[in-house]
Amino acid sequence: MDREKKIRLLARLSVFECEKDPDLKRHIYHACTPSGRTPLLKIMQSTYCDRNCDYCVFRRDRESTPRVYIEPEDLAKGFYELYKKGRVSGLFLSSGIFIHPEVTMEKMIDTVLILRKNYGYKGYVHLKLMPGVSLQTLEKAVEVADRVSINIEAPSEEKLKRIARSKSLRKDIVPKIREISKILKNYKNKTQITQVMVGTSDETDREILKGTEYFYRRLSLARVYYSAFFPVRDTPMENRKAESRLREHRLYQADFLIKNYGFSAGELVFEDGNLRLDQDPKTAWALKNIHLFPVEINTADYETLIRVPGIGPATAREIIRRRSESPIKDPVDLRGIRNLKKIIQFVTLRGRYFGKGRVNTTGSLF
Ligand code: SF4
Repeated sequence: MDREKKIRLLARLSVFECEKDPDLKRHIYHACTPSGRTPLLKIMQSTYCDRNCDYCVFRRDRESTPRVYIEPEDLAKGFYELYKKGRVSGLFLSSGIFIHPEVTMEKMIDTVLILRKNYGYKGYVHLKLMPGVSLQTLEKAVEVADRVSINIEAPSEEKLKRIARSKSLRKDIVPKIREISKILKNYKNKTQITQVMVGTSDETDREILKGTEYFYRRLSLARVYYSAFFPVRDTPMENRKAESRLREHRLYQADFLIKNYGFSAGELVFEDGNLRLDQDPKTAWALKNIHLFPVEINTADYETLIRVPGIGPATAREIIRRRSESPIKDPVDLRGIRNLKKIIQFVTLRGRYFGKGRVNTTGSLF
């Protein structure tokens, strides 16, 4: 198979949903990177894998997965051609584990080293790290990449073992994430992220978000990503129901509350361990804590304002700017503010309430 065909196939296979799509364009996706949205080539070094994770398209026993490996020289060259043509401006390199995690990781690092040294490529690289590699290899990976990640996949050891018996959060994945956090202290602009799958192991949102809190507060991860499970045919999980995108969306909303709004996971509202699907998590929190509302928009501090449903950090700053010029007395003074209809239900303007809400016996404002 020639280089171009391999690259097309490896990129295609790296995006599960596009297994039948022959068009490379579909595999260039626009990812959020520290320097903004970037078109990345998401590609595998190898689709061979000696592990057997139940959910994965690359699991060893899945006979229908085409197995391809590309040498670092060929991948670096192929990527650089796409880069020179302006079709991509970054690389997201992952791989199945072949021979040994160290061997796999060395090949991936070689690919990036060739790009950096032989082609003078200075652009963005995200390297997926193989659990089980040595500290020395982790250091090399961090040195050549801009972003690194190890997926935790499930929020507890027991849940992970149900779907990936060869992986261990306790022995392998979390200690590696910790080691990388320490290594990253020596760099200014490099980041670490992780991903958890949602809907694979009867995990609850509470379990997931407790992990999220730990990764942000204790290990300084840049992002936690959530990926709704969908079944892959010819795997042990092919008959499991796909997880709803709405659940994934609610987890992202709750994640923002933890990361950017000062909420703790324990403050969020869960029903049987899960976020409500019919309400965004901040509104659910506000309605449960209705005794804290309405807040006076002219005097509330920034931390209080960003807890008002509809008010995000940019809106809070804008409100503070406007009220420093003159008091906000009427909804007209908030003209142009996003989500105004919602905000007005939770605030007073110089002591006057303009919303329609009334606290009823169920603690709802509406
Ligand atoms: S180790 Fe990674 S690539 Fe291999 S089967 Fe598990 S999830 Fe898939």
